[in-house]
Amino acid sequence: MFPPNIVQACTHQFKTTYGKRVVHVKITVNDSIFNLTNGSHEITREEVIPVLGTVNSINALGLVVFSMCFGLIIGSMKEQGQPLKDFFDCLNEAIMRLVAIIMWYAPVGIMFLIAGKIVEMDDITQMGSQLAMYTVTVITGLLIHAIVVLPTLYFIVTRKNPFVFIGGLLQALITALGTSSSSATLPITFKCLEENNKVDKRVTRFVLPVGATINMDGTALYEALAAIFIAQVNNMDLNFGQILTISITATAASIGAAGIPQAGLVTMVIVLTSVGLPTDDITLIIAVDWFLDRLRTTTNVLGDSIGAGIVEHLSRHELEVKDAEVGNSVVEERQRMEETNKLIPDYDNKAPDSETNM
Ligand code: ASP
Repeated sequence: MFPPNIVQACTHQFKTTYGKRVVHVKITVNDSIFNLTNGSHEITREEVIPVLGTVNSINALGLVVFSMCFGLIIGSMKEQGQPLKDFFDCLNEAIMRLVAIIMWYAPVGIMFLIAGKIVEMDDITQMGSQLAMYTVTVITGLLIHAIVVLPTLYFIVTRKNPFVFIGGLLQALITALGTSSSSATLPITFKCLEENNKVDKRVTRFVLPVGATINMDGTALYEALAAIFIAQVNNMDLNFGQILTISITATAASIGAAGIPQAGLVTMVIVLTSVGLPTDDITLIIAVDWFLDRLRTTTNVLGDSIGAGIVEHLSRHELEVKDAEVGNSVVEERQRMEETNKLIPDYDNKAPDSETNM
């Protein structure tokens, strides 16, 4: 996560290798009490020791962590950091234009990638059943997250029935299922939360846009599972460290994914490179991704909405205080205006009276 050389991190990744070390131990016995055989003995043994090595691959995790810290610093530099920010914005724009050109021939490229994979397969039926198992695993994971984890979280924090809350979100969840985009679902999510679940507008207006952009529980879960699936297809055994790396990079990659259809598939490259998996194996899962994308988007929208519900519950006291302050200021303003009205003589009305009195 903390590469010592950022340029090297673009081409090399750390990898622990295990080497052998020969240890010579010399034991000298010098005993006069028990009369043991005095003299020195030498023992030689081999020890396996971890050696820090590198492999040719991008250190995605290191680059993500560095970019996040660098971005935070540039942001905190305000005007001083503006030229650097403009430079990166410009670089991003140039890359996006390049990508836009490449996208024109993407369908042809993807067609040949998939065709190449199919030709490579020894047994297409075995691959089909593996893909079916992968799909079932992703669906089960998403269901556990949506039906058990999120509602439990909501219940623990708010002590309210989470399924009543989820009931109010049905329209948003169905829209997410239909559009595969959390950003496109955003207006419906606002409507469901504010009108059906009566969540305060001040909370929804802050939490939902942030949630739709960076909080993607379903995408994180799917990316981690997809990376593990690709590792298994390649007969690669993942150790605990690699699984942990996948979890961290999948979370970071899901933050980076936009709320549009199949964005997760693109950011998954980061997850695959972080553990040295072949990125072109993404083509294996393209066939089922249109369907899984709908399910993970629904989970993403549910995660954002439950988040908004929890934030509203946790900040209810602050909201009440603010309401009271606003209420007080309205009352004070009214009193002030009434007093001002009393002090200023009402010439328009008084004039005819005075005339009549005269
Ligand atoms: N389609 C997802 C969303 O909009 C992102 C993704 O996982 O592809 O939330």
